[in-house]
Amino acid sequence: MNKDVERILVTAEELSDITKKLGAKITADYAGKKLLIVGVLKGSIYFLTDLSRYIDLPCNIDFIQASSYGSSTVSSGEIKIVKDIDDDLTGFDVLLVEDILDTGRTLKHIYDMLSERNPESIAVITLLDKPSRRAVDIHADYVGTDVPDAFVVGYGLDYNQYYRNLPYIGVLKKSVYEGK
Ligand code: 5GP
Repeated sequence: MNKDVERILVTAEELSDITKKLGAKITADYAGKKLLIVGVLKGSIYFLTDLSRYIDLPCNIDFIQASSYGSSTVSSGEIKIVKDIDDDLTGFDVLLVEDILDTGRTLKHIYDMLSERNPESIAVITLLDKPSRRAVDIHADYVGTDVPDAFVVGYGLDYNQYYRNLPYIGVLKKSVYEGK
């Protein structure tokens, strides 16, 4: 285990089970639809690439990037779109892929923005959910697992751009970010 990680919350094996199960569910739910998977950069990349391999359907993949966190562990609430998706959404069933749903502000901003572009449907899948932290009215249609209110890293999730490549989800030691 990485020395900056206090404890592992979701192991690599559990992550694999979660993505397999969700992939099968999406495959069943989106059969016959025009699926566009939109990953929210950068945190969703590991989840999206693993999940999409278990979606046994034709699909498009695109990415969107918003900034709100910077290097801190607390959301600023101010959301800016840094990279938009490339194509027109008309006729697509959009599946928005997030790493973690915290206050929900980032996803709500993206959801509302994409909803105005005439998609056939729009749904949300998040690997991790911190329901106790929700500040705005948004829910995920598909959730990998709930996590407690702790700052987690790994499997795409960063602190200050580090730790994304850990193969598990772990709680970051407070000493790493406190006092900075
Ligand atoms: P929200 O707008 O829902 O408050 O924040 C969503 C974004 O904040 C996530 O996509 C993620 O980038 C970041 N975030 C929220 N909680 C955590 C956490 O526990 N760990 C990490 N690494 N990022 C988090």
